[in-house]
Amino acid sequence: MSVERNFGHGESDGELENRIRPRELGSFAGQDKIVDNLRVFIQAALMRGDSLDHVLLHGPPGLGKTTLANIIANEMGAQLRVTSGPVLDKPGDLAGLLTNLGPGDVLFIDEIHRLSPVVEEYLYSAMEDFKIDIVLDKGPSARSIQIELAPFTLVGATTRSGLLTSPLRARFGIQCHLEYYDASVLSGIVKRSAGILGISIDDDASVEVALRSRGTPRIANSLLRRVRDFAMVKGEGHIDLDITRMALSALNIDSRGLDIMDNRILETIIAKFKGGPVGVNTIATAVGEDAGTIEEVYEPFLIKEGFLKRTPRGREVTELAYKHLNIAPGDPEGVLF
Ligand code: ADP
Repeated sequence: MSVERNFGHGESDGELENRIRPRELGSFAGQDKIVDNLRVFIQAALMRGDSLDHVLLHGPPGLGKTTLANIIANEMGAQLRVTSGPVLDKPGDLAGLLTNLGPGDVLFIDEIHRLSPVVEEYLYSAMEDFKIDIVLDKGPSARSIQIELAPFTLVGATTRSGLLTSPLRARFGIQCHLEYYDASVLSGIVKRSAGILGISIDDDASVEVALRSRGTPRIANSLLRRVRDFAMVKGEGHIDLDITRMALSALNIDSRGLDIMDNRILETIIAKFKGGPVGVNTIATAVGEDAGTIEEVYEPFLIKEGFLKRTPRGREVTELAYKHLNIAPGDPEGVLF
């Protein structure tokens, strides 16, 4: 078999991801309210010659938090510095970053719920007054000096907003909750990415990819790249509906886009708890996942897609979940573990 080497120019998935990441608000699809509001706040800050107020982005992984941080810096004409909660374990690490920021620059802290309490406390005065105290020397000769920072914008991202302390949350003037995307927006994202990567794809194929992507642009883009691989090897490189279905079934992608944990949650509620109602902590123990993660990452999508209901007595699967897993209600024997 001859392999032509004229497709991705040897780019890794990471580099491809960089190319398809939207750079302006105008190319960020969906999340209309967030985009409209940010546009106003950014324009107002620019008109005042001010830095943008601090922004908290929360929502499940892959929905565009890092992308929005990049866009905010870009639209403000400012530099972006990127770090993450678990990396900043000493106030000194944070001080180094903060003192290097120029006026209007954006500091992006991913997984901000994982900041250590001392670092978090240190951040308060930086966010509020653009000042930090630095301790010089140790022991009896220790003294602290105050350093003025350039007015900067902190963009914090978290998948677990419930774990944020209220003093930290209160210091963000702008708070945005990102929602799962619906299939029509996602298929637009797939088409845009295909255009940038020079992939030709039929409309119905992009809708199929969108439907199987768990409402998540990151998954949609990565499925597009895998389907393209199949189209190159098994076809002529063009992506149509047939090749898409073949690729997705070879990749074991669930027909409704649910991932392994989504399915395990539904199966467990059916097999072990007769379909519910059952409390989230009990589900968490049974599937071996953290209760907060279930509540903030998995459950919202299962509820949005109609597989799960939240009732006062706990979580209950719906008829759709039985249908999806091919189990007759009342017959948990059919479940394989
Ligand atoms: P998060 O930080 O929330 O985990 P990212 O910002 O890294 O998610 O987004 C994952 C990928 O999905 C990005 O590479 C980007 O290309 C794509 N993406 C996310 N949101 C959008 C959007 N609204 N429009 C187009 N592409 C998007």
